[in-house]
Amino acid sequence: MSYDCIVIGKGPAGISASLYVKRANLKVLVIGKDGGALEKTKEIDNYYGFKNTISGQELLINGIEQAKRLGVELETDEVIGLEFDGEYIVKTRNSIFKAKTLILATGARRNVPTIKGIKEFEGKGVSYCAICDAFFYKNKDVAVLGSGDYAISEAKQLLPVANSVTILTNGEQIVENRNTDLEKIQLLEKPINHFRGNEVIEEVVFNDNSNLKTSGVFIALGVASSTDLAKKLGAITNGNYIVVDKNMKTNVPGLYACGDCTGGLLQISKAVYEGAVAGLDAIKYIRKK
Ligand SMILES: Cc1cc2nc3c(=O)[nH]c(=O)nc-3n(C[C@H](O)[C@H](O)[C@H](O)COP(=O)(O)OP(=O)(O)OC[C@H]3O[C@@H](n4cnc5c(N)ncnc54)[C@H](O)[C@@H]3O)c2cc1C
Repeated sequence: MSYDCIVIGKGPAGISASLYVKRANLKVLVIGKDGGALEKTKEIDNYYGFKNTISGQELLINGIEQAKRLGVELETDEVIGLEFDGEYIVKTRNSIFKAKTLILATGARRNVPTIKGIKEFEGKGVSYCAICDAFFYKNKDVAVLGSGDYAISEAKQLLPVANSVTILTNGEQIVENRNTDLEKIQLLEKPINHFRGNEVIEEVVFNDNSNLKTSGVFIALGVASSTDLAKKLGAITNGNYIVVDKNMKTNVPGLYACGDCTGGLLQISKAVYEGAVAGLDAIKYIRKK
């Protein structure tokens, strides 16, 4: 089946891109394997237009329903291969599709450590985003799990809000060049055994049986690569992110990227904006062709 545009990813970036392409009266398909980051998001309070807190799941479903209402085609499937033979060829587990343009909105996979209790307390004290959730920990004692620059940056986000911030390196050494404004942050480099709590997380238990009371643990182990698909088509990447210009174009003609997979602010508002820009430029590209 051939399309003007295929979007990979049905999160905020992919759906936003598809709305613009569809409303330009072009044929667009969105392929997504799951709900991406929104599926893990319990409460969203920093996105425009919702009088009351909205859950990630609700926002995700709203976006998908909106796209369907406008006539966007959607497939739940995993893309496993990409090629180009004058058109983009998208191979999924179950089908093969073709398109004139391709928009990658594949999000950013976040590293999840295998410490007992992390999965259990996701959304109940375990968070993956300080900028999103710091507000919920006002005047509380919180910890950041990680030992690199990302962990330090998350700890800095939490400092003005929380009562105390402890970086837990889980047996690793913290990165060098600890700067002086980290004086207020406690550092514990002991290996962690597990996280404990009842309804919500309450403490970190270390291998030496000591413990640390905490109301929240922010996982900040860096972002795993989301660039594998882009690389298949020769797109330039920088670390874990796809390199784009201000119109969300990659270096490959007709190939765009938007949302978390381009790095920067990993937030819904930025994903929606970039999706719109990618969609609009893809329309121009298709019309020129
Ligand atoms: C716990 C948590 C809390 C958060 N809280 C907030 C908040 O309060 N406010 C806020 O603004 N942001 C928050 N965020 C961030 C926000 O969810 C993301 O910035 C946003 O979802 C990014 O949108 P995206 O479309 O780029 O990627 P995603 O929403 O991650 O979507 C990626 C899509 O790509 C698909 N995909 C990936 N690979 C493939 C493949 N090979 N084949 C097919 N499909 C594929 C996935 O299935 C998914 O559909 C939070 C994130 C997390 C994890």
